[in-house]
Amino acid sequence: MNHSTSNIILGLDLGTTGNRAILFNQEGQVIAQAYQELRQFYPQPGWVEHDPVAIWEDTYHCIQQVVQNRGISGSEIAAIGLTVQRETCLLWDKTTGEPLHPAIVWLDRRTAPLCRELTEKGHAEDIQNRTGLVLDAYFSATKLAWLLKWVQENRPDINPQNILAGTIDSWILWKLTGSKVHATDRSNASRTLLMNLQTLNWDPTLLNLFGIPEEIMPEIRDSFGYFGETDPDIMGFSVPIMAILGDQQAALFAHGCDRPGLVKCTYGTGCFLIAQTGQELVRSHHQLLSTVAWTDGNRVNYALEGAMFTTGRAVQWLRDGLNLINSAGETEAIARSVPDSNGAYFVPALSGLGAPHWDMSARGAFFGLTAGVTRAHLVRAVLEAVAYQVKEVVDAINQDSDTPVQRLKVDGGACENDFLMQFQADVLNIPLERPTVLDATAQGAAFAAGLAVGFWTDYHTLVQTRTLDRCFEPGPGKVTVATHFAQWQKAVSRAKNWVD
Ligand code: ADP
Repeated sequence: MNHSTSNIILGLDLGTTGNRAILFNQEGQVIAQAYQELRQFYPQPGWVEHDPVAIWEDTYHCIQQVVQNRGISGSEIAAIGLTVQRETCLLWDKTTGEPLHPAIVWLDRRTAPLCRELTEKGHAEDIQNRTGLVLDAYFSATKLAWLLKWVQENRPDINPQNILAGTIDSWILWKLTGSKVHATDRSNASRTLLMNLQTLNWDPTLLNLFGIPEEIMPEIRDSFGYFGETDPDIMGFSVPIMAILGDQQAALFAHGCDRPGLVKCTYGTGCFLIAQTGQELVRSHHQLLSTVAWTDGNRVNYALEGAMFTTGRAVQWLRDGLNLINSAGETEAIARSVPDSNGAYFVPALSGLGAPHWDMSARGAFFGLTAGVTRAHLVRAVLEAVAYQVKEVVDAINQDSDTPVQRLKVDGGACENDFLMQFQADVLNIPLERPTVLDATAQGAAFAAGLAVGFWTDYHTLVQTRTLDRCFEPGPGKVTVATHFAQWQKAVSRAKNWVD
């Protein structure tokens, strides 16, 4: 391996909405990128699936595109940082490389009955103590249990010895390394409901409880470090994969949130507000999750997280499900075309409710409809609901901590929306900082890989190369939001406990 001419880091961001490859130069700036939207499958109410082969093919094509557009060779890439949508998981056959079933996406609710059964049997508290997570269909464990049962019943031809399990990072790492490495990092593993937050390894009691053989699980490694080399056929050269992170943790890293008290919120398919808690494992008293931010071999950084499932995805639903809009971007002008939502409130429980409610049986709803409500009011109500959800989580973080959140660093596709950002600043009554590069996830993975390979040497200098696009200060709108927020919470309470 000769990387003497290497002057680029490749960040791979495999998200829920789509897959992205971004090249970063020595100054930490984006020099090329490629993106491919990913098809979503909704085979039954509450079910959400992805095609793992499509995720791999799109990743491969994005890499080719970005490398060719820039006219570079694989030898110029010093390292790869990989970040992925978390919790989404699959099984595949290690002899054929064939996924045994579509991947079950984090938003999927099919295992809610199993979670309820385990809660009734009294397992929830022990699971929470071991993992820092709530017993919810969101996490991978019940999805893997469902997949294993499905394979047992429907694929008698599959030799159980050949099955491998993993989240998307493990699947893509395995593909990138030419089927050689089956591993994951601690930030992704901490979202499976199978990793013990104290030992930072698979928890035998939990593997046993969910019926998952340890042999099929990937090896858990530190987030920053050598994971393997890419198959030379992919870029004509072997490139080391030097960091793997869950997408939300990667964004936290990019924002420079490496000390307690620093908080960021990513506005993507869902919204994820994460507060760094340093080396201390903090337990929430207000329905937030304790999770691993990252590990680097010497130490572990923990975080508190509020996960809201449906935010940008509700905008996608307006576009693809209802055909109410043509593009996500136009929601900004539509929302601004009316002074308020005219009494309409949207409960974004399209996949149940995450933090701070954790209600798998809630379903989405519009409340307060009268004949005066137009398409513009509905669109506006959807954007407003994003901001109200984030307010609930900020309130929970403030209750859990001595110092209230004083400003919020934001990123993700949906924070391009100026209306949403201003409304959010009004609702929270604190300023929001929006960076120039909204793809903080890819940036965080690239920063981590570049630091791990010695391409960059100082994290804080690197973080300072990021520029701020705009700061949204609370405006006159903050006066009326309190009443609307209370009304919205009333709507949420009515949409709870909807399905059995
Ligand atoms: P993910 O990483 O979860 O795949 P992204 O950060 O790529 O998500 O953001 C995509 C999401 O953001 C989609 O759900 C899309 O509907 C939403 N989105 C993109 N642009 C806008 C916009 N201008 N206004 C509101 N939502 C948007």
